[in-house]
Amino acid sequence: MRLLIMGPPGAGKGTQAKEIARRLEIPAISTGEILRKNVEDQTLLGREARRYLDRGDLVPDEIINGMVRARLDEPDTRHGFLLDGFPRTLAQVETLDNILADEGVKLDRVLVLKVDNDELVRRLLGRAESDGRTDDTEEVIRRRLEVYSEQTEPLLGVYAQRGLLVIVKGMGEVDEVTERVLAALA
Ligand code: AMP
Repeated sequence: MRLLIMGPPGAGKGTQAKEIARRLEIPAISTGEILRKNVEDQTLLGREARRYLDRGDLVPDEIINGMVRARLDEPDTRHGFLLDGFPRTLAQVETLDNILADEGVKLDRVLVLKVDNDELVRRLLGRAESDGRTDDTEEVIRRRLEVYSEQTEPLLGVYAQRGLLVIVKGMGEVDEVTERVLAALA
């Protein structure tokens, strides 16, 4: 199955993506995670991406697109994947369409996790304390939520028109949400 998982920062995408992918036996691919690893390893890509991550801004497409294309070229994605954090802009939707068209495959579903705004901020601030992510400070969180509603939320309309959206309530325990998602996919 070829899936996307979408939703605002703090909706639980990363946590759910890992568990859902494990259950479906496909790789979970998080662009945020790949970027953070590159920053940590101080690669050229990481050095270019860092200032955007730290501000809560989107990393430019020139950096992201090649990175995603290369990852989706790896053999473990042949029978499917769950993409977390990409696409985030309309231009990236087009890039993904092109990558998939080149391989002659299509997306099966786009999962959307819905979480109330207050809960999002509470979770993000909680994560800041536990994980020490440099982009989980209050100011950067505000910026990431803004970027999401301006640039990424419009993508839901695009995928809804294609009949791919599966909207799942992301509130409650982690396992409950996973079961809800798997039931929605069945
Ligand atoms: P995430 O872990 O998905 O919340 O992503 C963390 C940060 O990585 C974002 O705030 C962006 O700075 C960057 N990022 C991740 N995915 C993308 C993407 N598809 N396009 C641009 N920037 C991204």
